[in-house]
Amino acid sequence: PAPVVAVVGRPNVGKSTLVNRVLGRREAVVEDVPGVTRDRVAYDADWSGRRFTLVDTGGWAVDATGIHLRVAEQAEIAVDLADAVLFVVDATVGATDDDAAVVRLLRRSGKPVVLVANKVDDERTEADAAALWNLGLGQPWPVSALHGRGSGDVLDALLEVL
Ligand code: GDP
Ligand code: MG
Repeated sequence: PAPVVAVVGRPNVGKSTLVNRVLGRREAVVEDVPGVTRDRVAYDADWSGRRFTLVDTGGWAVDATGIHLRVAEQAEIAVDLADAVLFVVDATVGATDDDAAVVRLLRRSGKPVVLVANKVDDERTEADAAALWNLGLGQPWPVSALHGRGSGDVLDALLEVL
């Protein structure tokens, strides 16, 4: 079976945009992942001839009381089922407490993590991406999921750990 890559991160950082970017124009195959809720959807993806299953997480409600737990719970389940993780952070916002919570569970998981510094739409935001070295997850890959900038490089990095 194809390796499973979980896409995790806070709401609105651009996880689903990144998934669509990776899938390109091909019709995404949406399927239920056994044992998880419909808030997680799996897509058949490939890059440079390597096939993998990309699991988007999200769809939870943004509410003031529950969001922190929900983010961590969703991420934890998806990470448990994954062979590798694309951890998406909004570089223009920087690392938040919710991001730090996800970092802790990623460390506990021992799974390989590729850090996506998203919303780096132009050169001026490159410095925001570099600040994410502080998360201690290795190189932050500057990406604009919206425009495609840097997405090839981060996928190459993903294949290295798959
Ligand atoms: P998710 O909740 O993490 O799945 O985030 P979405 O993919 O739904 O994106 C949330 C918002 O961020 C949307 O308005 C996207 O258009 C926007 N967005 C996503 N990626 C980028 C990016 O690279 N640059 C910019 N400027 N906006 C982005
Ligand atoms: Mg989403």
